[in-house]
Amino acid sequence: MSAERRPLISGNWKMNHNHLEAIQLVQKLAYAIERDDYAVADVSVHPPFTDLRSVQTVLQADQVPIALGAQTTHEAERGAFTGEVSAPMLAKLDVSYVIVGHSERRALFGETDADVNAKARAVLGAGMTPIVCVGETLDERVSGRAELRVAEQLTGSLAGLAAAAVADLVIAYEPIWAIGTGETATPADAQQMCRHVRSRVAEAFGDGPAASVRIQYGGSVKPGNTPEVMAQPDIDGVLVGGASLDADDFARIVKYRLYQP
Ligand code: PEP
Repeated sequence: MSAERRPLISGNWKMNHNHLEAIQLVQKLAYAIERDDYAVADVSVHPPFTDLRSVQTVLQADQVPIALGAQTTHEAERGAFTGEVSAPMLAKLDVSYVIVGHSERRALFGETDADVNAKARAVLGAGMTPIVCVGETLDERVSGRAELRVAEQLTGSLAGLAAAAVADLVIAYEPIWAIGTGETATPADAQQMCRHVRSRVAEAFGDGPAASVRIQYGGSVKPGNTPEVMAQPDIDGVLVGGASLDADDFARIVKYRLYQP
C-alpha cells in the first residue's frame, strides 16, 4: 500500500452480539491492540445499532483509539421512517465511519446504487466518512463482466459527489462470492480490481482524489491472508466480517505488518 494513505482495518460485526457481548469484545480488543498498532493504522469496529452507545462509552472511558462505525444509515435526517436510523443520530454517538451499500444490503434489502449515493451524501453531510462497498457476483466474474459491474456501481454510488469528498472517503471492494464463503480473491486479482477502482476514480474525479481515496479489500479476510493482501500497492485496508468477531483474530489482522507475506 502507498506510504501516504493510512491503512484502515475495519470489523463489520453484522447482526452479531448484543450490547453486553459487544462490550466484552471491545474490551478484549482494547487489550489486544497496542499503541504501536494505532500509530500505523486506523481501526474501526461496526457493531449493530443497539450496541453503539455501549461501545462508544467503553472506547471513551478507556480512551481506546478504535473508531466507532455503523453498518448502514437512512438517507433522510428525520421523519416517518419506522425502524430506521439517521446519519445525524449516528454522528451524535461519535460514529466516524458508516458502511454504505454492503452487498448484503444490496441483495437482501434491495438497495440500489442511487440509494447508496443518497446514503453516502447523508453520511458526508453529517460529518462522517462513508465506506462505499462495491463488488461483483460470481456470475459476473466468470462471464468477464466484473470490471464493468464495479465501474457501474462506482458511477452510480459516487454520482455528483465533490472531488474533495471523494478524496477522503473509503471504497471497499468486496467480491460477493468471497464474502462469508471462505473463498478469497487472490491478492493479484484483488489488486487488479482495486487498481481498476482507483483508475475509475481518477477518470471521474481527477488524479488527486484517486491518489488519496482509501480502497479496502473484503471477502474472507483472515489473519493468514492479510499480510499478502495488504502488500498490494492499491489496497489500503481490509473490511473484515467473520474474523472480526474474534478478538484475537481481529487483533492479528490489525498487526498484519508483523507477519511476512
Ligand atoms: C463483510 O461482511 O464485509 C465480509 C467481507 O465478510 P467476511 O469477512 O466474513 O467474508
